[in-house]
Amino acid sequence: MANWVLKGLRTGIRSTSYPARPDDAPGISPGRPIGTSLRSTAAVDQLVGNCPTQAIAPNDSGIAIDQRRCVHCFRCQRGVDQPATWQQGFEWAAYVDEKAPRKLAAIFGRSLHIRFVDAGACGACMSEARQINNPYYNLHRLGFFITPTPRNADVLLVAGPVSDAMRLPLCKTYEALPTPKRVVAIGACAASGGVFGPSFAAAAGLADVIPVDVVVPGCPPPPLAILHGLLLVVERKPPSSVFPRAPGESKESA
Ligand code: SF4
Ligand code: SF4
Repeated sequence: MANWVLKGLRTGIRSTSYPARPDDAPGISPGRPIGTSLRSTAAVDQLVGNCPTQAIAPNDSGIAIDQRRCVHCFRCQRGVDQPATWQQGFEWAAYVDEKAPRKLAAIFGRSLHIRFVDAGACGACMSEARQINNPYYNLHRLGFFITPTPRNADVLLVAGPVSDAMRLPLCKTYEALPTPKRVVAIGACAASGGVFGPSFAAAAGLADVIPVDVVVPGCPPPPLAILHGLLLVVERKPPSSVFPRAPGESKESA
């Protein structure tokens, strides 16, 4: 650790100032498509047809995007007549239950212990999740710590659609967490099954198997989006203004 501090002093490289200040460093996030207003029927059909995960659906004003299914393939942005609006930033996380979000702030103050579970992810989500422990993202400065044992954890951070092989280990891990506990689903696979589920070998995401409190969309979500999800658990940041609900699913019915 001392080497990292010395290197930081020598090179001027330092940890991100998020969440105290926004981070707009180049490459910090790929951005994401959001719903777009009026366009021709042909343009809507083109966008809907281009989307490989059925994340786009027509609505009254143009298109709506189910953030839980979007895999950030850019097929609604490149090579189309009217591209979808692309939003920069990374504060993508949202509570599953907007009306009664389950937060840990009062009980846990500002500190969390986190247990990761790979429930059949392709590797990219877990790779991004591991980055939050590196010197740039430096989750310890936020009072967040990764623990290898579920019995010491407050939060279960899960990637992947929940493959059949991981269903039982995931349930056992969830049961081993002491209560109160919270679950954060990261990535399109954990949020909706993504490109793998539902299928003969995987569930349609984490909510099919255990209760989920916070969803972090993305494929994979960048490290700062994952940090945003953890900050939501302790109410230190507001949720995304673009809720990852399905097109046509109203705020009231969510
Ligand atoms: S970026 Fe998302 S919404 Fe756009 S085509 Fe790809 S999966 Fe669909
Ligand atoms: S959401 Fe994307 S990056 Fe994450 S496990 Fe699924 S396919 Fe891989």
